[in-house]
Amino acid sequence: MATSTQKRLAPPAVIGIIGGGQLGRMSALAARAMGYRVVVLEPKVPCACTPVVEEQIEAAYDDPTGLEKLFSIADVVTFEFENIQKEPLDAFAGRKPIRPSPAILSIAQNREREKNYFSDSGFPVAPFRVIADDGDVEKILAEDFPFPAILKTADFGYDGKGQVSVQHPSDLREAWRSFEGARAVLEKRIAFQAEYSVIVARNPAGECVSYPLCRNIHRDHILDVTFSPAELSEGQSAQAKDLCENLAVSLGLEGILVIELFLTREGEWIINEVAPRPHNSGHFSIDGSETSQFENHIRAVCNQPLGSTASLSPSAMQNLLGETLLEQGDDLAETVFSTERAHLHLYDKGEAKPGRKMGHINLAAEEGQSLREKVGKLRKSLGLPPITED
Ligand code: ADP
Ligand code: MG
Repeated sequence: MATSTQKRLAPPAVIGIIGGGQLGRMSALAARAMGYRVVVLEPKVPCACTPVVEEQIEAAYDDPTGLEKLFSIADVVTFEFENIQKEPLDAFAGRKPIRPSPAILSIAQNREREKNYFSDSGFPVAPFRVIADDGDVEKILAEDFPFPAILKTADFGYDGKGQVSVQHPSDLREAWRSFEGARAVLEKRIAFQAEYSVIVARNPAGECVSYPLCRNIHRDHILDVTFSPAELSEGQSAQAKDLCENLAVSLGLEGILVIELFLTREGEWIINEVAPRPHNSGHFSIDGSETSQFENHIRAVCNQPLGSTASLSPSAMQNLLGETLLEQGDDLAETVFSTERAHLHLYDKGEAKPGRKMGHINLAAEEGQSLREKVGKLRKSLGLPPITED
């Protein structure tokens, strides 16, 4: 028998989403297709969610009045990005379920807590040290820490922001000075074969599913293309799946969690970071999976049975950044629509700026080679360079 916190929320229950970006938009579209109602808390008007939700509360993410309104209207509250303060949320914890929990949010939003959690719980992580002051720097220089390394801010990093490469030990003092005292994590640079991610959904009843492994290729630190299922051996894929599902269980996940992984040259999995929300690498699932990551996100936070994550066919996702929209203008849509098994997803975010994620294209093909060729051809017609491997 389900307890009150484990109640299944059926449509037209109200989902509250903190954050009004594209991840909120696609979650809201999935929720509304199932008959749920959506209210979003987002100060910016219009935002990507404005045209697709029942109500937008125009307030800052930590505004007590805005949160009070959100928690009074919504039956369950979730979020679509990590840089939300935990403390204001804690004040509402008893009122309505918050899924995933503020405890997971707190771990995922801070690299120091995140790396400590992975290593304390026995999950594979790159060798790292926390730097809080000059003394920590000197301690690291006195030991045998493996360089080259990367210095990352503990808080508020995304798309490679807040990161500095530290090639040699002699570069560390200067790199740390450039952080102006902000707590940081120094990580060994992993010589990986490639980068991957696993999307896991788990409901409060404990049902857990994960999507086939995604192979992610970045350009200028921003995700460029995802292929799923990744072409790896069954054994390696199964290892990643087990690792990530175990991590979701260990964190007590209720909702969706994406785990970014490195596969080392020696064939070992290393966890890079996690995000307790839908993820850019999971966008392929809208057209390429039995159930999209957004639908499973909503089902999971509503404690409903989860949908199949099986792939319909080999899929790819090509991100669309502002520069491509600016260059292609109205031709973009025609290019995509005239490509077989290609689907256009634009986020209606208004002004296209270079580097800003404006949309994506999902593609499918019978097998991996023709899919790669198709992505290559599409990129060419969009004025994008050939895919560069990591
Ligand atoms: P964020 O995605 O929050 O900006 P990440 O920690 O995922 O930060 O780093 C961004 C990218 O930088 C990764 O996708 C990877 O390409 C590279 N990177 C990060 N940490 C390492 C590492 N320890 N070794 C090698 N490459 C790394
Ligand atoms: Mg990352």
